[in-house]
Amino acid sequence: MKKNNPYYSRTEKDSLKLTPEEWKNVLPDNLYYIARQKGTERPWSSPIEKIKDTGIYYCAACGNALFTSDTKFESGCGWPSFYEPVSKESIIYTPDNTHGMKRVEVQCGRCEAHLGHVFEDGPPPTGLRYCINGVVLDFEKAEEARKQYEEKDKQA
Ligand SMILES: [Zn+2]
Repeated sequence: MKKNNPYYSRTEKDSLKLTPEEWKNVLPDNLYYIARQKGTERPWSSPIEKIKDTGIYYCAACGNALFTSDTKFESGCGWPSFYEPVSKESIIYTPDNTHGMKRVEVQCGRCEAHLGHVFEDGPPPTGLRYCINGVVLDFEKAEEARKQYEEKDKQA
C-alpha cells in the first residue's frame, strides 16, 4: 500500500502546494481519502489510538511534526486525541459548518492535509481535544533507541 512519496520530509519546512492529481500519485488510497478529500476513518479503527509509547506523531502525507506523545490522552471518542500541537505553526485552523455542526477543522500546517477537528472539551492545561484520524499520523518512538542503549549500559 505504501507508495513512493518524494514530498515526504521530516526536515523540510516550506509549505507544499500540490494538485489533487499529484497527491493521488504519491499517497495510498486511504490516506488520500482522509488527507485530501476530508474523509473520516471509522472510530476505533486506528492502531495509533492505542499507542502509549513516547515519541512524535508526524503528518503521514508530508512528514511535518504535529503532536508529541506527552499531549496524547484517552478521550474515549475512538480517534487518537491530543490536547496540544507541537507548535502553533504545525496546524491550520478552519471553521467547518458541514453536517449541520459548527466545528473547527485542523489541517497540517505544511501540506494542508485534513487531520480532524478540535473541540473544547479536552483536559487541562489547554482544555482542547484534537480529534485526529490515525491514518494521517506517522508515529516514531523516541525512547526505543535510548532504552536499548541504557540496557546495554546496565549489563556492561
Ligand atoms: Zn502534512
